[in-house]
Amino acid sequence: MTTPDPHGSRTALLDRLRGCFLGEPKTDTLPGGRTEALRRLHAYDPAAYGRTRNHLTGTLSHLSPYLRHGMLSAVEVKEHLKARFPNDPVRLEEFLRQLAWRDFFEKVLKWHGRGLDEDLEEPKHAVARSARIPLDVVKGDTGLPCVDGVLHELFEQGYLHNHARLWLAAYLCHFRGVRWQEGAELFRQHLYDGDAASNSCSWQWVEGTFASKPYFMNKENIATFSGGKWCGTCTAKCPFDADYPALQHRLFAGSTAPLATRGVDVGTRNDASLSPVVTDDIGPLPHATELVWVHDAAMSWGDAALKANPAAAVAFVFDEPALRAEPWAYHRLAFVLDGLDDLYSHLPNLTKLTLVGDPAERLAALAARLGATTIHVSQHPNPWVVETVERLRSNFRVVVHPRPAFAEYPQEPKRFSRYWERVAPQVLGYRPKSSKRPHQ
Ligand SMILES: Cc1cc2nc3c(=O)[nH]c(=O)nc-3n(C[C@H](O)[C@H](O)[C@H](O)COP(=O)(O)OP(=O)(O)OC[C@H]3O[C@@H](n4cnc5c(N)ncnc54)[C@H](O)[C@@H]3O)c2cc1C
Repeated sequence: MTTPDPHGSRTALLDRLRGCFLGEPKTDTLPGGRTEALRRLHAYDPAAYGRTRNHLTGTLSHLSPYLRHGMLSAVEVKEHLKARFPNDPVRLEEFLRQLAWRDFFEKVLKWHGRGLDEDLEEPKHAVARSARIPLDVVKGDTGLPCVDGVLHELFEQGYLHNHARLWLAAYLCHFRGVRWQEGAELFRQHLYDGDAASNSCSWQWVEGTFASKPYFMNKENIATFSGGKWCGTCTAKCPFDADYPALQHRLFAGSTAPLATRGVDVGTRNDASLSPVVTDDIGPLPHATELVWVHDAAMSWGDAALKANPAAAVAFVFDEPALRAEPWAYHRLAFVLDGLDDLYSHLPNLTKLTLVGDPAERLAALAARLGATTIHVSQHPNPWVVETVERLRSNFRVVVHPRPAFAEYPQEPKRFSRYWERVAPQVLGYRPKSSKRPHQ
């Protein structure tokens, strides 16, 4: 099966994926794909990044959705910026330090695997947490203009500034008493860049299970970094309007977390029964001894597994069991479909398929059908990639292609400051004056 429409018509595929996404198809989604990622990277100038990045209006790169899906790698971003702006610490230092957080969190994921779904450290407070997200939060109707504004952006636009993520995470954990895992799931479902590593680690950082203390903000912080966007006209009783010691006492000094109301999902969860469990009707396939599995964190034609195998069959599998358990907002799915169209149109390989189902089962069935004995894949710490590779290994030869390292840091990644202290010279090419700076 060949391009131009290797995963069948999008409508047919979406029909097949009913139950795996939230909401209805719409057109105004972020364009996915490596072509768009490269265009954005080449257009980006971080000249004002260090000065403005904490403000909602700061000149950020908005590259995270592309980095999350491997349409672009952090190494490529680093190399491109260093070549374009040589010896320019104003442009490079702060931006590359922030980019290093992504690498640090990936290293944490690699170290802990599925252990990242649970607290990495003892909580630093004794306040109870609920496993339910309050109804007013999932409806974006808390009555607080700042929180509702951020929730609206999350649900409608699928992107949040880092500060808005911190505020929302702190609001949910500390002001509403919700477990960080529930908030992390909400983010994974709706953010274009929803990611196993950066997301869970950041939520744990806010909760204080991967930091020396919990993170929280007050009204002054929100007003400053939002440019007074909400606070100027807000008439709500503000829960953030206090100094830090007072908030610290109110939030953590033995108080009980408020009870959450019944949790529901945002958007329309499509009825799983609508989706017929079909076997993918992919017709006759030419024989191929090699199969490349493209997973959703390695969607680049520059990837080693693809570059090494231009004659292999190529397959992407939507992980149906995972998506049914935790459906993505439609815009996330559309972004990945764009990415696949773009990827397939750049690959010389003859056979390019998009499948739906359990990845290990689907890939094994496809390999058997093709007569393939070897499956190639790009290395990634995402647990489901690691586990799928293990399952495939029982019947096939699996070649895991390594990715170029952003930085070498062989010991356990515990605190970013220690990691950055060690890797900054590798990343920047020199030792910065002070490598000990906080998260923000
Ligand atoms: C609670 C919470 C949840 C988060 N969830 C995710 C997530 O699911 N996926 C995700 O990619 N990022 C996540 N982040 C990190 C960060 O907010 C986003 O990477 C960043 O906002 C993306 O915007 P940008 O590409 O314009 O970033 P820029 O500021 O332009 O930074 C460039 C790149 O550096 C990396 N980066 C910058 N800041 C951070 C950071 N604090 N942590 C990790 N990497 C960073 C990203 O890859 C980003 O694309 C989360 C942060 C918090 C506080």
